[in-house]
Amino acid sequence: MSDICVLGSVNMDVVIKVDDMPAVGETIKAKEIKKICGGKGANQAVAVARLGGNVSFIGCIGKDENGEILLETLKREKIDTKTIRLDDNLPTGVAYIIVDKKGKNLILVYSGMNSDLNENDVYNNKEVIANSKILISQLEIPINTVIKAFKIAKENKVITILNPSPVSDIPDELYRLCDIIIPNEMEAERLTGIYPATLSDIEKIGEFFYHKSIKISIITLGERGSAVYYNGKINIVPSIQVNVIDTTAAGDTFIGAFAWQLSKTDELTFEKLCKIVELANKVAAISVTKEGAQSSIPYLSEVIGMYG
Ligand code: ADP
Repeated sequence: MSDICVLGSVNMDVVIKVDDMPAVGETIKAKEIKKICGGKGANQAVAVARLGGNVSFIGCIGKDENGEILLETLKREKIDTKTIRLDDNLPTGVAYIIVDKKGKNLILVYSGMNSDLNENDVYNNKEVIANSKILISQLEIPINTVIKAFKIAKENKVITILNPSPVSDIPDELYRLCDIIIPNEMEAERLTGIYPATLSDIEKIGEFFYHKSIKISIITLGERGSAVYYNGKINIVPSIQVNVIDTTAAGDTFIGAFAWQLSKTDELTFEKLCKIVELANKVAAISVTKEGAQSSIPYLSEVIGMYG
């Protein structure tokens, strides 16, 4: 059984490089096309696995070429994939990412089999969830599936982490099942109506989630670092200064590293939580110095090489 279970999305990212964005009705030549494995759920599972964590992934993949590549990739990362359903109800999820020469992008996401991940998939893997220390989910899959999984987790004293991304309205029922919520600054603002500019804003955001019954909120603040709120105590843990190349998957890397370190921590205190966030900031900082999503997620050896 795994320490960490990730429930979520898995996509093939098709990155298409062009000089200029095509206008509606225009046909242009692409300069380069690359397939990169992605999806927030899969990225988070990869982040845990590359640090040496024990992780299983509950998701859905189509019976097609993209699905085969994604499944092989997850297996190669030493992620437990027995919990993945392969089916031909829909194609595998795909994200088409068109990037122009100025680095501006246009993204089209087709959820495909991710939208088919349902309560039965959770039910069929309830032992895996119940025997994990931590369950993580995001919102690229149906919200009722997340609720069902979090219910099983809470019945079995498993710590639940919600990454509310892409942001959408969250029912109180789901808030009540979350132990830890990790939004980025835009998601925090969408959910609470407060932009995390100052320590006082962060306190108000933490209180908003606290009143929804979540004791711990971590708000990732990009280059500013990450804010920690735990039972009324707050702190901003600064990011590591690095040469930024591409911030894709920084949040996913942060969450994977956070969960990995949390799974090894007993009797969580505010001070221990801040230390865990400090480590997660360090791992995420490495990811922003490299291009791409899964291609930028570091291995434990790189983290040790960089910070000792
Ligand atoms: P998301 O990718 O979900 O939008 P953020 O942009 O907040 O999330 O980034 C997540 C984490 O990655 C941050 O909390 C920080 O630790 C790290 N990070 C992001 N951008 C930078 C940066 N420019 N320099 C150093 N660390 C960064």
